[in-house]
Amino acid sequence: MNRRNFLKIVTVLGGALAMSRCDMLKEGDETIIVIGAGIAGLSAANTLQNWGYKVIVLEARPRVGGRIWTSREWEAAPLDMGASWIHGVNNNPIARLADANSIKTVETDYDNQWIYDESGNELTDAAYDRLEEFEALVQAYVAETIETLDDDVSLQTILDMALAEEDISADEKQIILYLLNTIVEHEYAADINNLSAFSFDQGEEFGGEDVIFPEGYDQIIALLADGLDIRLNVSVQRVAYGDDGVTVNTNQNTYHADRAVITLPLGILKSGRVAFSPDLPADKQNAIQKLGMGLLDKVYLRFPNIFWPKEADLLGYIGAQKGEWAEWLNIAHFTDAPILLGFNAATFARQTESWSDLQIVDGAMETLRTMFGANIPDPLDWQITRWAADPFALGSYSYLTPGTDGDTLEALAAPVAGRLFFAGEATSSEYQATVHGAYLSGIRAAEELWDA
Ligand SMILES: Cc1cc2nc3c(=O)[nH]c(=O)nc-3n(C[C@H](O)[C@H](O)[C@H](O)COP(=O)(O)OP(=O)(O)OC[C@H]3O[C@@H](n4cnc5c(N)ncnc54)[C@H](O)[C@@H]3O)c2cc1C
Repeated sequence: MNRRNFLKIVTVLGGALAMSRCDMLKEGDETIIVIGAGIAGLSAANTLQNWGYKVIVLEARPRVGGRIWTSREWEAAPLDMGASWIHGVNNNPIARLADANSIKTVETDYDNQWIYDESGNELTDAAYDRLEEFEALVQAYVAETIETLDDDVSLQTILDMALAEEDISADEKQIILYLLNTIVEHEYAADINNLSAFSFDQGEEFGGEDVIFPEGYDQIIALLADGLDIRLNVSVQRVAYGDDGVTVNTNQNTYHADRAVITLPLGILKSGRVAFSPDLPADKQNAIQKLGMGLLDKVYLRFPNIFWPKEADLLGYIGAQKGEWAEWLNIAHFTDAPILLGFNAATFARQTESWSDLQIVDGAMETLRTMFGANIPDPLDWQITRWAADPFALGSYSYLTPGTDGDTLEALAAPVAGRLFFAGEATSSEYQATVHGAYLSGIRAAEELWDA
């Protein structure tokens, strides 16, 4: 599909109003700076440019895509180091972009997960049934307990209540911790200790299956970046705004524009590395401070051969320590390449970020040897993320801490003084922490800018 059609799709996704905006182009009378060339910045920039604004995108990294980043270091397969999935393909704008541009996606079947116990034995049918039963029980317990509470607490507090009130054996506790880690902590990139029991899952979801991109998520980024004026290696240090417009100081030049769309990750906003003058309003600062920036890290291991069940989509490990090497995606299932992807989140991921690559690989191999035997081969190579240490992300994605909710995300999203417009995954109260949420937030910020 050619670029013109693609722009049409972007516009259509912006809603019916977008078409009328397109008919009354702005004739280049305003310059807009978009800070950040992740998916939120690219979707905002594309939408605004399509409406006739002169748009300049400033990006600190030497590449576009931000937390969508496909490594092509290994010939065997492209590897997504940030986002992997489109979560729910029905009506999902990212799925529509992929479909319209014939970008290959493959479904992940979460039910096709082979799970191993602490000793490395695959679960029996009865044990799989028990796991499912526990999942339903945990969900019901959390839902019922929340109804009895006046004030928000962490999910850990709910677990502590269950452990105190119910007769739960050590073995059952291990299963509950495994479920909470792989289902909750991996998805929300935060320890249950830090997640709001009332709101951690407050957002909306698209229906349908989850799919990955066997040839790389960056194909979506390439589509959106095409035709934009993107300045790479430009790190924004200060944003001043007022009646005269917006002045942006960077490690290179100073830029002036009428208005700006800010898509800085929550981690960067929290760090104070980018100054705002005047200071951002108190409720936005409050949101920045209270929302959490979570952590999910990935470890890709490439082996000489496949020694695990190739037919499995995912592999699980119910270890003695919560959250240590509990979930693996079988890349071989999707690409034929002998590659496994291990996920770690929250507390354990923060710990491993300070380890050397070799220590991380040793830790992963200890678990894989428990699961598949002492004689499995060493990996030939590995690729490891450290998103908390990444200077232009400072974490993986945002989460809701106790006492925060969708309104906190909306406070983060609110425009300031008709000059600054905010987008990015953490500004999406509907689809926080996702690619589609970030993408739609860029279109929302463009609409707010037009309307201001
Ligand atoms: C490991 C991992 C797995 C994930 N898995 C999934 C998944 O499977 N599915 C899903 O939907 N989502 C997933 N996500 C979340 C998803 O990647 C993000 O929600 C989304 O990509 C965020 O886009 P964004 O545009 O808001 O932010 P970003 O992509 O971070 O874009 C912000 C941009 O701002 C730039 N920047 C930072 N500081 C400065 C500065 N000072 N000056 C100029 N530019 C700056 C950054 O370099 C970056 O390019 C995952 C994320 C991670 C890290």
